[in-house]
Amino acid sequence: MSDTPNFLWQLTGSFSKPAGDNPTVAMIEAAYQHHGMEWRYVNFEVDPSNLGAAVQGARAMDFAGFNCSLPHKVTVIEYLDGLGESAKIMGAVNCVVRREEKYIGENTDGKGFLKSLQEKVDPAGKTIVLFGAGGAARAIGVEVALAGAARITVVNRNAERGRELVHLLNEKTATEAEFTPWEGDYAVPLGTHVVVNATSVGMYPDVDTRLAVDLDSLDSSMVVADVIANPLRTNLISAAEQRGCTVLDGLGMLVNQGVISIKYWTDVDVEPSVMRNKILEIID
Ligand code: NDP
Repeated sequence: MSDTPNFLWQLTGSFSKPAGDNPTVAMIEAAYQHHGMEWRYVNFEVDPSNLGAAVQGARAMDFAGFNCSLPHKVTVIEYLDGLGESAKIMGAVNCVVRREEKYIGENTDGKGFLKSLQEKVDPAGKTIVLFGAGGAARAIGVEVALAGAARITVVNRNAERGRELVHLLNEKTATEAEFTPWEGDYAVPLGTHVVVNATSVGMYPDVDTRLAVDLDSLDSSMVVADVIANPLRTNLISAAEQRGCTVLDGLGMLVNQGVISIKYWTDVDVEPSVMRNKILEIID
């Protein structure tokens, strides 16, 4: 490791959220410290009207990259120099990476989910039921489709949004996608390999809100995943576990999107367990 920090800067001002309060900052800084990396990850709140100036500022300060969250995931694209394959299909960026002095937009949310899914099952050739059609569902749908999923059934409350995602998957990937309207409790068809909740149903503080799924349709042969990381054990995860399914909580996606982002910025493969433990420390 060099004696010189990757970038040297001084900031004066007051920031609304100390690192300890922001799980992503805490988790990424924990990885840097664990590996003795002379990198820093700092949180800034940027008003939408200042987004272009903020990206320009990052360029001026020679940032290796940055993450961006809602509401910037789509609008940031106009200030970048290019997009990675999946980010281009999704039309959304959560991770910007400097490559040969260009800022390229990537989407590590879907890639993070895919990495955790691949630890349980390879989605290639599999059938998938995807609840939701928002940002997380879009990222997951595109990434599992690019990984070779045979068929994706999108189930969403808002039919227009659901059909839009299905259209995108059919147009831009080789996966066969279909929309199913969400009426009453959805019964997962037998033979489905992977079930993913990519809605916000069950997220803290609404932990008792129930996802409209016929839990008896969950079979022990299925992998059941939830994107929600808080709480870790959502009602869906608990019910699926009781039925003998292989389960995947939202923490894997959160940690892995960080691992992939760090790899993009620094070219270092960091230890995911350090990041997972840091998050558990915060949400416990
Ligand atoms: P969006 O607002 O873009 O989408 C929300 C989705 O949830 C929509 O499909 C919406 O359906 C659906 N939804 C909301 N309420 C209900 C309800 N009562 N019944 C049925 N469907 C409902 O949010 P995101 O996609 O960005 O985020 C979704 C979840 O994913 C959040 O909980 C977020 O925390 C989590 N997430 C986790 C990540 C991780 O790393 N673990 C990363 C990114 C997100 P409709 O279209 O009908 O409104």
